[in-house]
Amino acid sequence: MLRNADQAGLRGFFVAGSGTDVGKTVVTAAMLRALWRLGTPAQALKVVQTGVRDVQSPLGDTHVYATALEDMPQAKAVQPTQPLYCFALPASPHLAAAQEQTSLCVEHLCAALRRFQAESAPALLLLEGAGGLHVPINAQEDMLDVMAALGLPVLLVGSNVLGGLNHMLLSLDALRDAGLRLAGIALVTPADPSAGCPGVDVPTLLADNAAFLRQRLAQRGCDAALVTVPRMPCLDLAAWERLSSLLLPLAQALSTPCAEPRNKGELLLQRDAVAVWHPYASTVTPPALAPVARTQGNRIVLADGRELIDGMSSWWAAIHGYNHPQLMAALHGQAGRMPHVMFGGLTHEPAVALAERLLHCLPADMERVFFADSGSVAVEVAMKMALQYQIGLGERQRVRFLTPTGGYHGDTFGAMSVCDPVNGMHSLFKGILAQQVFMERPSCRFDRPFDPTSLDEARRKLQAHGQEIAAVILEPIVQGAGGMWFYHPDYLTGLAALCHEAGALLILDEIATGFGRTGKMFAMQWAKVKPDIVCCGKALTGGVLTLAATACTAEVAANVCAHGQVFMHGPTFMANPLACAVAKASLDLLGETDWQERVRSLERCLKHGLNPCATLPDVADVRVLGGIGVVETVQPVNTTALHRFFVEQGVWIRPFNRLIYLMPPYISSAEDVGHLCHAVRLALSAGIHC
Ligand code: PMP
Repeated sequence: MLRNADQAGLRGFFVAGSGTDVGKTVVTAAMLRALWRLGTPAQALKVVQTGVRDVQSPLGDTHVYATALEDMPQAKAVQPTQPLYCFALPASPHLAAAQEQTSLCVEHLCAALRRFQAESAPALLLLEGAGGLHVPINAQEDMLDVMAALGLPVLLVGSNVLGGLNHMLLSLDALRDAGLRLAGIALVTPADPSAGCPGVDVPTLLADNAAFLRQRLAQRGCDAALVTVPRMPCLDLAAWERLSSLLLPLAQALSTPCAEPRNKGELLLQRDAVAVWHPYASTVTPPALAPVARTQGNRIVLADGRELIDGMSSWWAAIHGYNHPQLMAALHGQAGRMPHVMFGGLTHEPAVALAERLLHCLPADMERVFFADSGSVAVEVAMKMALQYQIGLGERQRVRFLTPTGGYHGDTFGAMSVCDPVNGMHSLFKGILAQQVFMERPSCRFDRPFDPTSLDEARRKLQAHGQEIAAVILEPIVQGAGGMWFYHPDYLTGLAALCHEAGALLILDEIATGFGRTGKMFAMQWAKVKPDIVCCGKALTGGVLTLAATACTAEVAANVCAHGQVFMHGPTFMANPLACAVAKASLDLLGETDWQERVRSLERCLKHGLNPCATLPDVADVRVLGGIGVVETVQPVNTTALHRFFVEQGVWIRPFNRLIYLMPPYISSAEDVGHLCHAVRLALSAGIHC
C-alpha cells in the first residue's frame, strides 16, 4: 500500500510517461475520474505543457481532464487547474522555455507546486509530467529531478507495444536510482496492436509484456499494481467510464490510507531503541532522535513530512547539499562497474584519478596519498607515518606528539590521545591513552593583530621535549569539535618554523576544514606553511560516503620506506572505488562552481544573522569565518531543549557544550541561512538554552 502522506507538504503522486505520446494525459484524466468515483477529492495538474500557446487553450491537457469529468456531480464545484507553465513550441521544456526567453528550474517548479498545494489543498494531487522521465527542463535538470525533489510516488504510464518493455525497464531503473517509489503502472495498448505485423499474434505477445513486468516488479520486491488499458479511438463518456473502471484498482491503491502504521517514524524509533547505538549516546537513557525519510539539496525531510533546513552539512561533510545529481551519477556509474576490490596488489582508475586530483589541490610539496576509511583512521595513519619516518631516520626515541589543547582529531586510540586532555576522553581512559605533550591552544584570534607571544609555549615545549617529539599535530586555523576556535594564521607559520628547527614533523588535520569551508580550499592556505603530512576526510566525498586521505611529502614517504621498510597499514576497504569515484566527482564539482563566492556569501549571511546575538546577556562571543558561524555562550547550553526547539522551528542545528554553531551546505540560499540564524537568535532570546 502506498504511503504518500509522508511527503514534504505535498500529498499525491506523479504521473510520468516512459516516453512521449504514451497516453499519459488520458490516463491522468481517467485516474482523476476513478478517484472521484471513489469519493477521493483529487485534482490533476500538468506541471509543464509545451505546444500550447496559453494556459486557457482548448488544446491544453486541462481540457482533456475537464472532458473526462464532465458528467461527474463534483465537476460543478471543482474545475481542473491550468498547467503551471505553458510554452508554444511543441518541444522539450528546456527548448520551449528558451524559445520564450525564459527558463525553468527544479527549485522554482517545486516552490510553485507547494504554493498551489497550499492554496487549493486537494486531498490528492496528480502531477502530470512532460514526456518521459529524462525530459530536460534546463541544461542540468530533468523532469526526474523535479520528481526526486518532491519525493512523491510515481505512476508510470507506458505504451504496450513491441519494444515497450525496454522503455519501461529503463524508466523503472531511473525511478529506483532516484530513490522514488513506484505507485503503479498503466500500460496503454494501441487500438490496432497488430498494425504493421501481419501474421503475428501481437495481442498475445503484448499480454506477455504485462506478465513480464509484473514478474520483474515481484523480483524487485515491489508490490505496485499494474493495469492495462486500451487506447480509445474516441474519447466519449463511455470511453472515460470504461477507462476509469479499468483504473479503479490503481485509484483504490493510491487513495486508501496506508495499511502500515500511520506513524512510520514512531515505529522506526521503537525499533531503533532496541537495536541501535547512536554517537556519544547511552543505551540506558537513549537520546531523542528524529526519524529522517530522505534528503534533498539543503533539506532533511523527516518521516512525518516535516522539512528541516540543514545547518550542519552532516558534520562538515555535505558541502554540495544532499543527493547532488553529479555525485549520484558518479556513484551509480561506479557501482555498475566495480563497487569494491581489494587494494593490496591491485589498483584502479578511481583511486589513481582521485589521488592525482587531490595532489593537484593540496600544496605542491604533497606527493603521496594514502587512503583511509574515516577521519580518525586518517589521523592514525598520519601518526604512524610520523613514527615510521622517525624510525627511518634512526630517531627511535621520538615517540610522542605535541599538540595544542582544544584540539579534536577523532575517536580511535591514537587520535583520542591528541584530543583536548580535559574535554576529550583522557580522564576516562587514564593509563590507557598514550601520554602526549600538550601546549596551550593558539591564543591569538583570527581577526585580531598577531601576538607573537602566543607561540611562546610551543617554543618552550619543543625546547623541553624536542628530542622525543615525532610530530606536532593540529587543526589549521579552526579548532573544530574541541571548541570551534579560530586562530591567527601567523601562529601556524611560526609553529611550522619551530617544528622544522626541532626535527619534528608538522601534521595538519584538515578533516573538518578542507575543501573550502573556511573560504580557502584548505585552511592552511591562510598561512604560509609547508606541512609534512595532511589529513582530509568529511567533505572529501561531498558527504556521500566515508573516505579519508593522508597525504605526505616525498621526504616523509622516502624515510618511512627507508632500509627496505614498508608502511604498516592496509585497511580492507582502502581506496573503495565507490567512495573514490564520488570524491573525484565532488572535487570536479568544486572546480566547476564558484564555491569561493558561495562561501563568501555564507559568511556575509552568517555575520548578518548571528552578530546581533553578541548583545544578548548569555552570549560570550560570536565569530564567523567562511561558512562557519559560532555563538559561544557563557554557560553550557541545554542541548535537549535546544535540539527540540530547532526541529520545531524547521531547522537542523546541533549545539553542544557552550557552542551553537552553523555550517550550512554551500548551496544554501541567503533566505535559508537567514532562517537558521533567526532560529538561533530566537532560541537565545527566548531562553531555550538555559
Ligand atoms: N579530525 C577532525 C578535525 C575532525 O573534525 C574529525 C571529525 N569530527 C575527525 C578528525 C575524525 O573524523 P571521523 O569522524 O571521520 O573519524
